[in-house]
Amino acid sequence: MSTRKTLLEELAPGVRSLPFVSLAKVPTPVERLESVGPRVYAKRDDLISDVYGGNKVRRYELLLGEAIAKGHKKILTLGGIASTQVTATAKLARALGLASRAVLFSQPATPYLREALATTHEAGMELVQGGPIPIAAYRFFRELAQQKDAYVIMPGASGALANLGYVDAALELGQQVEAGLLPRPDRIVLPCGSGGTLAGLVIGLGLLGWPTIVTGVRIAERAVVNRTTLGYRVSTTARLLARLGGPRPSRKRSARFEIDPRFLGAGYGAWSPAAARGAARIRDLFGVPGEVTYSGKTMAALGRIAHEHPDENVLFWCTLSATGRNLAADAAVPAWAAPLVEKAERSRPG
Ligand SMILES: *Cc1c(COP(=O)(O)O)cnc(C)c1O
Repeated sequence: MSTRKTLLEELAPGVRSLPFVSLAKVPTPVERLESVGPRVYAKRDDLISDVYGGNKVRRYELLLGEAIAKGHKKILTLGGIASTQVTATAKLARALGLASRAVLFSQPATPYLREALATTHEAGMELVQGGPIPIAAYRFFRELAQQKDAYVIMPGASGALANLGYVDAALELGQQVEAGLLPRPDRIVLPCGSGGTLAGLVIGLGLLGWPTIVTGVRIAERAVVNRTTLGYRVSTTARLLARLGGPRPSRKRSARFEIDPRFLGAGYGAWSPAAARGAARIRDLFGVPGEVTYSGKTMAALGRIAHEHPDENVLFWCTLSATGRNLAADAAVPAWAAPLVEKAERSRPG
């Protein structure tokens, strides 16, 4: 297993003994997004891996590292039918020679569905059609009982161990600011689903002692993304860090965070005109198509926030992958999913 010296090890010596598998090319680039606003910047975690980028990679260095250390040969997870977490699991597991299997629950059909399913399918993942969330949850529990040898990644992949990846990412940003590559951000804007990315950053920024505010753009229902769920992610991650020899958790050592609820639209994964415009903007800025679930809604929020806070340096943390995606218009999907994909492509604009 390869090891990368993480910045976090210096603050929490116990991190050194955590299993780890190197998947990320770091530091990821930072750049100015002048067309969004004169003080807007991007942190390009979309480029973090040639296999599949985005915000799961730093977390999977720890999770898949643990899976390998414990001798697992297969990963089992649960997610939406167009979930990037499922795709990331398929691609990153495959790159490490691990098999993978996922139970997929229904979510609104969008033009991104073919790409997500095709990329996952192509990576050799076993896909179980789960149906609506309650039925999919039942199937997942049945799988948990049957696939006893599998390493399990829960939906969102945002347990405390995984979230340490984004504590480290904040320290990486700290070095980039120190090196003069960008000004210290007054605000960081990113999509917020399970909140693992936000929690890691909030703790990491607290360790840096920065007054930066983290704005999580709500991309899932209020019952999933709220101050209680996010506070839980922050406190469990902070406690793990303390157990690993890091600073004891305290409010002073966590950055402030806010939730921007304005762009969720009809719910998780639902298309909206603003999200579609945001997804198109992603293509203009980064050269790869966006999608409406995460990046489209976050770009919509970013434009609004930059306009509302012209005096702030705003950093957009790019969580989508720019790599490893099968973008072919006729990319093959599992046979059971073909009717869903065709229906999605007929019924949705953009
Ligand atoms: C998984 C994912 C998210 C959600 O991140 P959380 O840490 O679960 O809040 C956001 N954007 C993209 C592109 C993702 O793949």
